Amino acid sequence: MSKPIVAIVGRPNIGKSTIFNRIVGERISIVEDDPGVTRDRIYGQTEWLGKEFSLIDTGGITLEDYPLDVEIRSQAEIAIEEADVIVFMVDIRSGITSLDENIAKILYRSNKPVVLALNKADNPEQRERFYEFYSLGLGDPFPISGSHGLGLGDLLDEVVSHFEDDSLSIYDDSIIKFSLIGRPNVGKSSLVNKILGEQRVIVSDIEGTTRDAIDTPFVDEEGQEYVIIDTAGIRKSGRVYENTEKYSVLRALSAIERSDVVLCVINAEEGIREQDSRVFSHAHDEGKSIILLVNKWDAIEKDTHTMQEFEQDIRTRFRFLDYAPILFVSAETGERLQKLPELIKKIYESRMQRVQSSILNDVLMDALAMNPTPTVNNKRLKVFYMTQVAVGPPTFIVFVNDTELLHFSYQRFLENQLRKNFDFQGTPIKIIPRKRS
Ligand code: GDP
Ligand code: GDP
Repeated sequence: MSKPIVAIVGRPNIGKSTIFNRIVGERISIVEDDPGVTRDRIYGQTEWLGKEFSLIDTGGITLEDYPLDVEIRSQAEIAIEEADVIVFMVDIRSGITSLDENIAKILYRSNKPVVLALNKADNPEQRERFYEFYSLGLGDPFPISGSHGLGLGDLLDEVVSHFEDDSLSIYDDSIIKFSLIGRPNVGKSSLVNKILGEQRVIVSDIEGTTRDAIDTPFVDEEGQEYVIIDTAGIRKSGRVYENTEKYSVLRALSAIERSDVVLCVINAEEGIREQDSRVFSHAHDEGKSIILLVNKWDAIEKDTHTMQEFEQDIRTRFRFLDYAPILFVSAETGERLQKLPELIKKIYESRMQRVQSSILNDVLMDALAMNPTPTVNNKRLKVFYMTQVAVGPPTFIVFVNDTELLHFSYQRFLENQLRKNFDFQGTPIKIIPRKRS
């Protein structure tokens, strides 16, 4: 299931990031490569009236070496491309500027709902000017104040009223949804082409959704259906902003959200980069199953140790992904790609597997016998019972005498025992301690 996406567009200094921060709050900031610089927070998740959505601040996607109008036009295009609802922000104090008019023209041509926000309406006199803005032809304007937090409720009411139920694209549960994530030029698009080229049958009639134009469905020889999420974002369309890191991160984050399995692609020629670990760890945090693909394996010089060294390096850099298989592949030669759908399917199945409580508790009892629970401050941890409460990812509640006593290391030990006894390859496991009352 995917959440609707709302994008904020407007000239610089209009208050976009102020509003973004007000709406998303401090709770969930995802893109933050430079703490303290609000600009780097361009994608967040929040909810209004119980409706969850993702919010994008397009002002954060900047283009170096381009004039302001090109940059703003790109931001408006990104909003049209990515968002279900667009919030167009202007400054109520300055009236309509020519740049505002240009943005309005671009938005006007899209058929996305646009909500017009008049920011910096800090007091009643300023709010009085709202009628001028009807001339933009975008319907009722909503006066707001980012600094004072005024008018945001009405604005958000309007925004969520445009969410359509069928904009939440939901593929049938039997369809495996996966995406390819990685920096520009790691070979995502080549990999998609190669994967699709290997499949004998490609279908286009998987239950239609409003988003399927950007996704690619296919079916393997055994009839298993797959959807490659956001193939449109992977293929090049020639836009100027396409190869910027921020845009590719943004695209990756929303693709991750809609996927069951995420293929994290690393370029063998370049090795691991900082951005890789940020995006990959987001996939992990979201509980997605993960396969690490080291692409362009054909292009590097190898001796008998190269693969092992590379693997070790990845394991060290991505400790939290120890459950993820690593595949050394080449989109150029097709090396190890033939079996990829099979692996994705296997991982999806482990992700969705449900373990019976009786079997689970036999494993738990053996684990407790093998490694007795620790004593912390003279208090001994007691583990009573474990039960699986969810799949995708597998989630277990473990009942204990005191949740404070279940430290990370013992939790880790329990996780390892689960992995030893059941096949959870490629998938994160969640263990939630509960006090037994
Ligand atoms: P952005 O470039 O569109 O993201 O704009 P910012 O959020 O960075 O805000 C630009 C400036 O406008 C900052 O100095 C903010 O403090 C200020 N600002 C934002 N919202 C308001 C508002 O509602 N009223 C007033 N007076 N200033 C605001
Ligand atoms: P994307 O930006 O991640 O979608 O990357 P592309 O698929 O556009 O690939 C970027 C460049 O790397 C292109 O010139 C590809 O031909 C090249 N490339 C992709 N995969 C491989 C590979 O496995 N081996 C080699 N040698 N080149 C590759």
